[in-house]
Amino acid sequence: MAAPAVQISSTNPADPADLIGTFVPGGGIDVDRAVRAAAAAAPAWAGAPGQARADALARVAARVEARAEELAQLVCREVGKPIVEARGEAARTAAILRYHAQAALDPDGEVYPPGDGRSLLMARRRPRGVVGLITPWNFPIAIPAWKLAPALAHGNACVWKPSPLSPACAEALMGCLEPELPDGVVQLVQGGVDAGVALAGHAGLGAISFTGSAGAGASVARQAADRGIAVQCEMGGQNASIVLADAELGRAAAIIARAAMGYAGQKCTATSRVIAEHAVAADLRDALVAEVEGLRVEGPADAACEVGPLITADARAAAEAAVERGVAAGGRLLTGGSALDRDGHYLAPALVEVADAGAELAQEEVFGPVAAVLEARDAAHAVELTNGVRYGLSTSVFTRDLDRVLDLAGRLDTGLVRVNQPTSGVDLHAPFGGEKASGLGPREQGKAARDFYTSLRTILVSPAVLE
Ligand code: NAD
Repeated sequence: MAAPAVQISSTNPADPADLIGTFVPGGGIDVDRAVRAAAAAAPAWAGAPGQARADALARVAARVEARAEELAQLVCREVGKPIVEARGEAARTAAILRYHAQAALDPDGEVYPPGDGRSLLMARRRPRGVVGLITPWNFPIAIPAWKLAPALAHGNACVWKPSPLSPACAEALMGCLEPELPDGVVQLVQGGVDAGVALAGHAGLGAISFTGSAGAGASVARQAADRGIAVQCEMGGQNASIVLADAELGRAAAIIARAAMGYAGQKCTATSRVIAEHAVAADLRDALVAEVEGLRVEGPADAACEVGPLITADARAAAEAAVERGVAAGGRLLTGGSALDRDGHYLAPALVEVADAGAELAQEEVFGPVAAVLEARDAAHAVELTNGVRYGLSTSVFTRDLDRVLDLAGRLDTGLVRVNQPTSGVDLHAPFGGEKASGLGPREQGKAARDFYTSLRTILVSPAVLE
């Protein structure tokens, strides 16, 4: 098959005339070549001492640290992430690599009492072989790092297909990985859906890890199921912040505004619904409108920027259309929702008051600076509303009442429950992932990561001669 004629052109969301580069997307042949090369390199990498893998990952981390400002500027330019957050992502990427470098030296199994009292019965973790990794554009170096680092630490070889919207960031991260790893252990295949489908369906994989939208994740999961390989999908969200009547309203409003609209709402953990208890709903709504209207919508390279542009013109048009449909369906526009009259894909952050919890804006992910504002009769109703969507990634609860927190936390069906915190925010050493349509398979991050990147062999060793 000839190489696809259409190249990937990566442009700056804040200045669409700024061409970052052109990249050749891979096809099925390129994916096949990459998987074969990774498979050839995998046994030696799996057989290397844990210390060697730990040292290699620590050296990759050092390269990321040495190039942190360059990487941050590239993230800012290619995906429009506010520079302060982009710097945070570069630092986080190095920290993830260092964390998993250490994990390469963790115990790799367990010993059990044998049935006969004298044999050795153990379960040892083994790498899965070649692991396919498919990643989105919104955390273009941190998400790949939190898949690549544990995969490599535990002895796997990797074929990575990044988003076609962040190809330059992918090449920059590869530039830190390749010099420190044996040839072939990490393969990069640029491209879009075609390359992703070819990778997810490749017979040479031992496992596949995906992060992206729910529809694409479901497709990857079906392909993996057909092949009988391990699969992990982290997908979209429709995350709620619950504000109870005893909450510190000013602080809640400030946190929620930034969680909903920061980075133009383009985080899987962004707040998409604000659910306030009746007694404080009006006050919270007013405080939230004031906070959102005070957010700085600037060029992402400006250190004061909080919101920034959406990733593409299409993404902005889709967010604008979602707001229009929400208003047409009976929602009340509280603020924002229109494209800004300047270069770049900017949208004024939008809040829409919604009476019907079944409305599209209160059910589906917009992935833009848009949030629905709802009212709950009481805390029980707030839980019912929060759980009444197909997604289940992150919920935050604002209250001073520990008893209510303990009660609510047990009833919320999201993978993350965060109290007096934004829905957004991920701790690199704690398990991360969603329920329902937001997540499938073992959690990512921290010690949980090895459950996906290894499988267990149960080994029984008995004496050759029984006395
Ligand atoms: P996307 O689903 O369009 O693309 C994600 C990746 O999958 C890209 O590399 C893309 O080329 C590839 N892809 C698309 N369709 C595919 C298919 N059918 N088979 C195989 N690969 C395919 O998502 P995006 O626009 O890049 O990212 C935004 C989405 O990702 C949002 O829904 C967001 O909530 C989600 N996300 C989730 C998490 C999480 O950890 N839960 C983190 C970040 C982003």
